[in-house]
Amino acid sequence: MNVEGTAILDLHIQGMSCTACAVRIEKAVGKMPGVSGVSVHYAGRSANIRFSPENVAPSAIIERIGQLGFSAAPLGSDHGSEGEIASLKLRFFFSALLTLPLLWTMAHHYELLQGLPMPSLLQHPLLQFALAAIVQFGLGMPFYFGAYYAVRERTANMDVLVTVGTTAAFLYSYYAMLSGGALYFETSAVVITAVLLGKLLEASASGRVMRESAGFDALQAQEAVVIRSGVREQVPASQLRRGDRLVALPGKPIAADGIVEEGTAPVDESLVTGESMPTAKGPGDPVYAGTFVTAGELHIRAESIGADAMLGRMAALARAAQSTKSSIGRKVDRMAAVFVPVMLALSLGTMLLWLTALKPADIKAASVHALAVLLAACPCALGLAAPLSLVLASGKLLRRGIVLREAGALERLAQLDTLVLDKTGTLTEGRPVLTGMAAVDGKTNTLLRMAAAAEAGAAHPFAAVIGEAAAKAGIAAPAAGSFRSVPGRGVEAEVEGRRVEVGSAAFGAERGWAPGRVLEQFARRREEAGETVVYVALDGRCAGALAFADPVKRSARAAVARLADERIRVLMATGDHPAAAVHAGRQAGIAAVHAQMLPEQKEALIRSMQREGRVVGMAGDGWNDAPALAAADVGFAMGNGTEAALRAGHLTLIRSRLTGVCEAVLIGRLTVRNIRQNLAFAMLYNAVVIPFAALGGLEPWMAGTAMALSSVSVVGNALRLNRRLNRAILQSERLSV
Ligand code: ADP
Ligand code: MG
Repeated sequence: MNVEGTAILDLHIQGMSCTACAVRIEKAVGKMPGVSGVSVHYAGRSANIRFSPENVAPSAIIERIGQLGFSAAPLGSDHGSEGEIASLKLRFFFSALLTLPLLWTMAHHYELLQGLPMPSLLQHPLLQFALAAIVQFGLGMPFYFGAYYAVRERTANMDVLVTVGTTAAFLYSYYAMLSGGALYFETSAVVITAVLLGKLLEASASGRVMRESAGFDALQAQEAVVIRSGVREQVPASQLRRGDRLVALPGKPIAADGIVEEGTAPVDESLVTGESMPTAKGPGDPVYAGTFVTAGELHIRAESIGADAMLGRMAALARAAQSTKSSIGRKVDRMAAVFVPVMLALSLGTMLLWLTALKPADIKAASVHALAVLLAACPCALGLAAPLSLVLASGKLLRRGIVLREAGALERLAQLDTLVLDKTGTLTEGRPVLTGMAAVDGKTNTLLRMAAAAEAGAAHPFAAVIGEAAAKAGIAAPAAGSFRSVPGRGVEAEVEGRRVEVGSAAFGAERGWAPGRVLEQFARRREEAGETVVYVALDGRCAGALAFADPVKRSARAAVARLADERIRVLMATGDHPAAAVHAGRQAGIAAVHAQMLPEQKEALIRSMQREGRVVGMAGDGWNDAPALAAADVGFAMGNGTEAALRAGHLTLIRSRLTGVCEAVLIGRLTVRNIRQNLAFAMLYNAVVIPFAALGGLEPWMAGTAMALSSVSVVGNALRLNRRLNRAILQSERLSV
């Protein structure tokens, strides 16, 4: 993706211990010259950076992240979370092994457990000291590094809390050992073990979530069969080059976008079109990566490969979206950044409270309780609350052929109460058929010839149909000059010295050419039957009319009904004639129809409803829909739509099926509810545990364990969302059959 000198760098980042780290990277990299946007995603361990390649090199960005104490590598370079998980496993295992004997001696403090055999060696202070020291400074060393890097950048993260807390506990026990008091070595060791367990669970859950969302990458072909100097050979897909001759075999995903050179075969294109019936393809037809032939064989000339192919571009869109952050996510990150200093202050406050008011001069009690506060506080549950669920939801959407281009759209999706649908190409198939022609002078062939010439440069579905009809009738369209297209109205061009205009009645009225009585009669009959009529004018005089039928999509009626069930108001806004619009509306079950809308009027309609306090979605496919898609709270772009619509939308429905809107709303609602639960839980946890610890109700080791458990339960709730989404999707599938 290159937008006017802007490039995008997707990185995998290792070594982040909580969202405060993500914020730190965002700040530091954001300050680099040439960087225009940074979004670091803690749960996904990834970053999405927009930069200008003239001003900064990707290697400099990676180096800067390294200076902050993390390691970064381009996404997809197989530097995944596997290594991180393996090392956490190892650290947790040894930490638990060394902590167990310490726990054993502690158990002995409880009266109930005093019957346990207790080897005296275990109670030896020096052994306890040695075990705790290994855990603290060996296995716990990475926490010190993390804390050091954070403090050096004048921020605080979860590592700071863990190191301050456990070091204090360790030093306290060391002092007690020297002065002959009771030992507390198990406390620091248990906390470190518990934090390691929390991190391990979190990392493996994040890894699972990331795999869930791998979506597109999983559809990419790994290998391809090519013909080189007459010989077939199997090569890895990464070695393909433009111009290679590929052999498409049944059931195997095609490895590149390309053009058929030889053979005819049915191709399953459901991935890109949503159409489950295979389409017959022959020489000259385009085929797309990720689709496959269902029988027979095709020889294909590779045109776009890997990231350049449609599938690759979709995957990149999806990845970029995963590392954009929702507004909930941003709020949480900001909270986490102030959370650590606040907790350090609270802990200090606890110490002072005990020293001055509750148990004056008892340094031991004061420090134990301050320690408990420190260990109970952890921004991690808070930081995990939103991102895990969001990543999960976008992965699910992807599997349903819905690309979430901006995470924030998910939240607005949950609140959607109004949906505006474009007609042509969105509600209807967008594959119109030319059903009739009328020429003032009776010469329909001349009419078709001029119209085809003028429409040669247009992107509207009618343009393609006119071109095909001319070709079928054996008419060669002459070249056209000074072409101009007016979105939502029509086109004009110079053909053989004459000015040709093709467009709607409104387009004609604007330019002062009106259809005569004959054409008006033709138009009325056609429009009553639900067809769309387009007029052709030569040198400012209306010369004829063309009628098109464009059937409503099969999925439309079911989708509209289900949206109504979800209490979403559905309207249609189309540039087409009222009669055709009402006809299509009736077929789809939409009563509220706005016809003859110009692009800016569609946009104004949406803005006016937003002013009434509605949360408005817009689904569209054309150039004329782009302003409305961008203005809407949630813009759904049809995957087979124009580039302009794809860029303006917040979500892309790759299969161009309207049921995708219902699924997206459903997924959005469930996800936002899940995030709210997570946040509420994390808040509640802190609100309960911290005062408890401050007032002396929790031993330090209990506080530390509770902290680890709170992260784990948030992860658990996010995984529960996974199951709920699966169930909801299954249900909606059953309904739409
Ligand atoms: P919508 O997608 O909102 O239904 P369209 O993009 O189909 O709107 O445009 C509305 C109307 O404008 C069409 O029904 C047609 O009459 C006219 N129009 C737009 N573009 C063209 C074109 N290239 N050729 C002929 N007519 C056009
Ligand atoms: Mg349209």
